Amino acid sequence: MNQESYDVYNPADGSLVGSVPAGTYDDVNNAVSIAWEAFRSWSQTDPLDRSKLLFSAAQLIRADQKDLARLLTREQGKPLRESLNEVAGFARVLEYYASISGTMHGDYGLSKNYGHMMVMRQPLGVCAAIIPWNMPVLIMGWKIGPVLATGNTMIVKPSTTAPLTCKALAGYLYRVGVPESVLQLVTGSGEVVGEALARHPDIRSLSFTGAVSTGIQVAEHAAKTFKKTILELGGSDAMIVCRDADLEAAAKGAVSGRFFNCGQTCTAIKRVFVDTKIYAPFVQRVRELAGALQVGNGLTPGVDIGPVHTKRQRDTIHSLVQETVNNQLGTVMSGGEIPDSNPYTMGSFYPPTILTDVDPDAPVMREEVFGPVLPISGFDSISDAIERANATRFGLGASVWTHDMRIISRATQELDAGIVWVNQHLRIPPEVPFGGVKSSGLGRENGRYALFHYLEEKTILIHP
Ligand code: NDP
Repeated sequence: MNQESYDVYNPADGSLVGSVPAGTYDDVNNAVSIAWEAFRSWSQTDPLDRSKLLFSAAQLIRADQKDLARLLTREQGKPLRESLNEVAGFARVLEYYASISGTMHGDYGLSKNYGHMMVMRQPLGVCAAIIPWNMPVLIMGWKIGPVLATGNTMIVKPSTTAPLTCKALAGYLYRVGVPESVLQLVTGSGEVVGEALARHPDIRSLSFTGAVSTGIQVAEHAAKTFKKTILELGGSDAMIVCRDADLEAAAKGAVSGRFFNCGQTCTAIKRVFVDTKIYAPFVQRVRELAGALQVGNGLTPGVDIGPVHTKRQRDTIHSLVQETVNNQLGTVMSGGEIPDSNPYTMGSFYPPTILTDVDPDAPVMREEVFGPVLPISGFDSISDAIERANATRFGLGASVWTHDMRIISRATQELDAGIVWVNQHLRIPPEVPFGGVKSSGLGRENGRYALFHYLEEKTILIHP
């Protein structure tokens, strides 16, 4: 890293993948002026024309999916299979917003006293997004799709450690005709570029995904400049496995829901509560399935878990595991050691780790553990399970695994979460709203709900 640019390294082997400019406050100011100028004409384009551009970009991106996925794996670390899905997911989000971009009409009523009462929906203007490194491509799609579809302009700040695929994807939108002034990327640090975006008085909306502590700072700055704000701040999702659950499906769900993306997903399963009646066979099956996962460089065929994104992140995860064990708050059933042999020493690897009989009050059960660690605990009644699931400051997602309609009805109502799954976890279609409660954030992305966020109502009263 030097003053003008950031180097981006592959977390699997430390090799240099590329570099991006280190943006400044002036770059942000400049981008905001350009984006307002572009807004004048972009906001006047027909929704159908914007849809066509989004569809065309999605088509080009799908054609180059493999190259884009390789780049994503090299800078982020995830297995190529997951990168392929993420790139396809980005294209799908563009297609979804392309298909509904013209559907957001206003409202109308006629009153004897007030005459014609109309509600017009207009785009906000210049919007900004701050993107993390864990799912950079999909999260950028969630943020730019509704912004472009509604006729707003956008400035994106990608993460400093995974900006390259985001930058490449913007190039596809330019190639089909989205003006560079309508979608701008300003790369650089959170402290400089991120903060400048959050503070800027001429940005109307800010969508942020990342850590709670950063989200608080961003929200403070955004409040002072009256931005409409979406905050997606992670979670500590609980999975509740009831005694009647399909044990094989639940064990597979726990393993994929936790170890996907090396555990670095906001809605990953971060705590499992299992009915004590099926605790032993469930834990045994999870151990077998997790033991079969291949850890390695995400580009190597057959690899299921890549490296943790950074060494710092890996060390944080390991300390939480050690803290659990040292304070006798749980037992390591498998994993739990930093690998010390080649090729693992070249990168920031951590094995899939299962912690059993974990104290529900242990930090590993309450905080967001952003890595491949699965803490499991037993429960005797569904009331206990729901209470424990809710005993965290987070409220992003939760799942209940049962076919008992009484439990499904109760859990879906009582779990404090923005999304509750039944007999599945971690699946997020673009058609439905996504976001959390409590410290997991504010507002919703995805679905038609995101379009509402990026449009402002204007009331018009015409007396005849
Ligand atoms: P951060 O919140 O630091 O980073 C997320 C984004 O915010 C990055 O683009 C970052 O830029 C930017 N940023 C950092 N500081 C500021 C600031 N002061 N003002 C504006 N933007 C800023 O998360 P980390 O990457 O450090 O991850 C830490 C923890 O956050 C993880 O362990 C995990 O618990 C949680 N997290 C949750 C995610 C989720 O999906 N919910 C995603 C990522 C992290 P830069 O890259 O320059 O730091």
